[in-house]
Amino acid sequence: MAVSDHVDLERFIKGVKKRNPGQPEFVQAVQEVAEDIFEFIADKEEYHEYQILRRIAEPDRVVSFRVCWEDDDGNIRVQRGWRVKNNNAIGPYKGGIRFHPSVTESILKFMAFEQTFKNSLTGLQIDGGKGGANFNPKGKSDHEVMRFCQSFMTELYRHVGDDIDVPAGDIGVGTREIGYMFGQYKRITNRFTGVLTGKGLEYGGSLIRTEATGYGAVYFLEDMLKRRGDSVEGKTVVVSGSGNVATHAVEKIIQLGGKAVTLSDSGGFIHDPDGIDREKLEWVKELKTIRRGRIAEYADEFKRATFHAGQRPWRVACDLAIPCATQNELDGDDATILVKNGCRGVSEGANMPTDLDGVHVFKDAQILYAPGKAANAGGVAVSGLEMSQNSARISWKEEELQLLLREIMQGIHDRCVAYGGTPRSDHIDYVRGANIAGFVKVADAMLAYGVV
Ligand code: NDP
Repeated sequence: MAVSDHVDLERFIKGVKKRNPGQPEFVQAVQEVAEDIFEFIADKEEYHEYQILRRIAEPDRVVSFRVCWEDDDGNIRVQRGWRVKNNNAIGPYKGGIRFHPSVTESILKFMAFEQTFKNSLTGLQIDGGKGGANFNPKGKSDHEVMRFCQSFMTELYRHVGDDIDVPAGDIGVGTREIGYMFGQYKRITNRFTGVLTGKGLEYGGSLIRTEATGYGAVYFLEDMLKRRGDSVEGKTVVVSGSGNVATHAVEKIIQLGGKAVTLSDSGGFIHDPDGIDREKLEWVKELKTIRRGRIAEYADEFKRATFHAGQRPWRVACDLAIPCATQNELDGDDATILVKNGCRGVSEGANMPTDLDGVHVFKDAQILYAPGKAANAGGVAVSGLEMSQNSARISWKEEELQLLLREIMQGIHDRCVAYGGTPRSDHIDYVRGANIAGFVKVADAMLAYGVV
């Protein structure tokens, strides 16, 4: 990077920090992208003149609202809900809804910003948004969750629509919550449209949407390894999280002949040296989606496994790692240990699970490292396909969708390769590749619109 670019980048980040006080996650996400984009646009005057990155890093709109609901004891509870509309240059806003006590405007803004690049990478006509609330579904009864979802949608319905903004699930929002929100949207508007994705199959959902993010993250890993003449088969894989993305990543690893040895939640991680096989995985899925239990119980059920309270799994020796829990769950020290222990590939199932120090460790070590905006795009891609099926009032067969998901993931991989090459080496910088490939499509659409 030339010295003048560096100075510009510093000034740019300083401005982002000043305009977004107290929003470290958002600043982090913008900085990670800007480091690559500044270099790329150094000789592309129109992107500077039209302030493209500056505009992408300023959400079109942030809606914040009160969500009141009544718990089972008759107490009135108040939460805050948001919908961040980052950009709609290449399609309707699209991105999940997160219900978790840690949700803040900064976290939703970082994800909406990342989603713009991710959705662009899929090649589909969708752009970036994200939403959520600081509501904790854990320990709540079904009826409490229903009342919260209905209250949340009673405000959100004004801001979404099948051609406007199409939310989906994320942490704390699965098929149950989407069902409650879709039911309320339909009730208020009297319209049956594809306004949400991740719906149940009976009312417009798409096959393989549930599996798509986890499967896609493993497909991306497979494509990176394939380029090096290698494969997932026989590899030991460390996985974090134990929700939707993590369990389906493990499912695909098993199918491809790999051995996943860890899972985690906010209480700690389990290590199963024998590997998590199909039977154990079904047990975890039941534990997490039906009994809504904790991963610690795995070590009680399967005696060779151990539970490590309050720890993350990155010290377990592995060939490959797939972080699938949450943002900033893997820092510079964790990354250093992974590399030292021989980890050769990392595919991010979660959004921004690696902090900036960790990203630099992986980049410097030149291991195969796929950022979330590329590796976990399979979920939103199948959501895009759900939108298409809803518009056409049809349902595609599972085989067709499996094939489309596989093709889309390969397309994303190839786009990253096209922009992520490094001089005098066969190494691909997938972070740079994803950032630039995602940027170009959105930026060119914005140039076409002029200053709006
Ligand atoms: P789930 O709610 O199904 O599972 C989340 C998992 O992560 C749980 O095991 C949860 O443990 C753990 N977790 C959450 N917060 C923390 C924390 N602060 N520390 C440690 N563990 C934590 O969510 P998903 O699997 O859907 O999402 C996981 C990640 O993947 C998120 O980053 C999400 O943004 C990303 N993603 C999801 C997509 C999807 O299609 N679902 C699409 C693209 C990205 P606990 O139960 O203890 O909270």
